[in-house]
Amino acid sequence: MTAFKALGLEEHLLKAIADLGFETPSEVQAKAIPILLERETDMVSLAQTGTGKTAAFGFPMLQKIDVKSRTTQGLILSPTRELCLQITNEIIAYGKYMPGLNVTAVYGGASITDQARQIKKGSQIIVATPGRMKDMIGRGLIDISKIEYCVLDEADEMLNMGFYEDITEILSHSPKEKSTWLFSATMPKEVSTIAKKFMHTPVEITVGTKNVGSDQVSHEYYLVNARDRYDALKRLSDANPNIFSVVFCRTKRDTQKVAEQLIEDGYNAAALHGDLSQSQRDTVMKSFRARQIQMLVATDVAARGIDVDDITHVINYQLPDEIETYTHRSGRTGRAGKTGISMVIVSKSEVRKIYTIEKMIQKKFIAKEIPSGMEICEVQMFHLANSIKDTKINHEIDAYLPNINEVLADFSKEELIQKVFSVEFTRFLNYYKNSKDLNVTGERNFSEEENKDSTRYFVNIGNKDDFDWMSLKDFLRDLLQLGKDDIYKVDVKDSFSFFNTDTTHQELVMGIFKDFKLDGRQINIEISKDTGRSKGRSSGGGGRDRDRGKRRGDRNDRGDRGGDRGGDRGDRGERKGSFKKRSSGGFGGGDKPAFKGKSRSSGTDRPDTKGTGGRRRRKD
Ligand code: ADP
Ligand code: MG
Repeated sequence: MTAFKALGLEEHLLKAIADLGFETPSEVQAKAIPILLERETDMVSLAQTGTGKTAAFGFPMLQKIDVKSRTTQGLILSPTRELCLQITNEIIAYGKYMPGLNVTAVYGGASITDQARQIKKGSQIIVATPGRMKDMIGRGLIDISKIEYCVLDEADEMLNMGFYEDITEILSHSPKEKSTWLFSATMPKEVSTIAKKFMHTPVEITVGTKNVGSDQVSHEYYLVNARDRYDALKRLSDANPNIFSVVFCRTKRDTQKVAEQLIEDGYNAAALHGDLSQSQRDTVMKSFRARQIQMLVATDVAARGIDVDDITHVINYQLPDEIETYTHRSGRTGRAGKTGISMVIVSKSEVRKIYTIEKMIQKKFIAKEIPSGMEICEVQMFHLANSIKDTKINHEIDAYLPNINEVLADFSKEELIQKVFSVEFTRFLNYYKNSKDLNVTGERNFSEEENKDSTRYFVNIGNKDDFDWMSLKDFLRDLLQLGKDDIYKVDVKDSFSFFNTDTTHQELVMGIFKDFKLDGRQINIEISKDTGRSKGRSSGGGGRDRDRGKRRGDRNDRGDRGGDRGGDRGDRGERKGSFKKRSSGGFGGGDKPAFKGKSRSSGTDRPDTKGTGGRRRRKD
């Protein structure tokens, strides 16, 4: 508490902070609050999700506004409705001892007249999503011509979502003389562009390193064949009976398919994506918060509003297209001081991306194996034993006990345990008995195929020229005018460096460096013999061919990509059912295989199963 006081906050805010139970300021709060209180300045603040950014701008804004005036003085723009509501509630909680404070949330999907009415009463602070805000300004329902403080929260997310034009339009209605505070978890080019455009010599604050993941999160990857993705997902869930997770897919379609398939297989799963109506999304989020859903399958865009603190696992069912997105995904876990695990299910053709992500987050991934069926059985049995141990006895069953006791009278405790576990696990064991190993051998097995299209270069600039891998990558990208993932495996040594591009760019690279000088020094570039594979990664070709052969053997010919699709139901053993599937619930439920008689594509394109909540399993 004294720590908050030392930042310069007023008594009424300190009281609210005490009520909230915050004891010490987080790093971003400690860095930003004193500066924002003291000076009228623009600020760019980079910090991971879950580091307390809302309070970092919320407290200074509350302290600076004039609550006696009805004029709108502060505007906070945030990417999603969920975040908008969350920030509104936080600000209201921080300002609980400020009589007359009026904070209004402005977002799409709710009555515009209600919001306009609330604003007319006089809101000192408006928290808004860009789309609705622009709309209301356009209709003359909101006047921001006198704002003094403007926050762009989750700026990277807003830009990702295509709000650049809306933001520009909104800010054109605000006065030039104001302080703009930009908060973001990552700093892609687009964010620096916006900072340059709207801000004047902003103070920069960085918590941790740019784009670096939280320390609370460990990162694991699982190398599987693309067609085994779904089975791998199920096993990861089965091996973690108390999982409470967000599963990320690349597209709405995959999200929907994977969720439906999980529900069908008896998991507590649901989909969250942009094709759901707002009320469907609200229902899903409510069930997720209440933990009736253990696996929330989501697109990146839809997951932006997720502010649930105890998520145990983030599962990257597929890697995102934009590498930076990985930071956002993994930031959904390890929040508020808790630890979390970010898992990536990766196929060989993408494993290179793991390396790129490691460089970005500056943390190593642990290469893990998908647990075998028997390992999972063991975990589950142990889990059941513990659940039994921890179960509170329900005395409503007392009346039935004499009869039950009579039926079971002849058995010893040992026999009863055996029987209980057999009831629960016979199906389970049968399901996993002949399950195959889903792991692909060869750690980080960069295939020949992949390397043949990639060129590695040697260049005589390095650390001593003040480059690190990130700045060299940026430098090359600007110089060559290439996209952000076109330069990879950037390895900076003291006086030289290596990097790769696809071979298609080789001419461009060699051309530009032909007669290139940096600070007057001639820069040499050569094509390197080394392909960028490091030791131990090249156990290679044989294994791959073996897999290929197997693949042909046990599935229809439908090309590699098909296996990436979540809803793809092969006719192989493991997908035919799930031990979770219970037709009657409780011990020893049904035996019918989950997918019997189903055609491959049914269940994935049905229009009205846009799924909210899954079946409930017994609560642990
Ligand atoms: P961000 O915007 O950086 O993702 P939030 O502002 O949403 O993070 O804060 C994440 C969580 O941490 C919230 O539940 C918030 O109430 C809590 N929190 C923020 N600051 C503190 C603090 N100083 N001490 C304890 N909890 C805090
Ligand atoms: Mg936030």
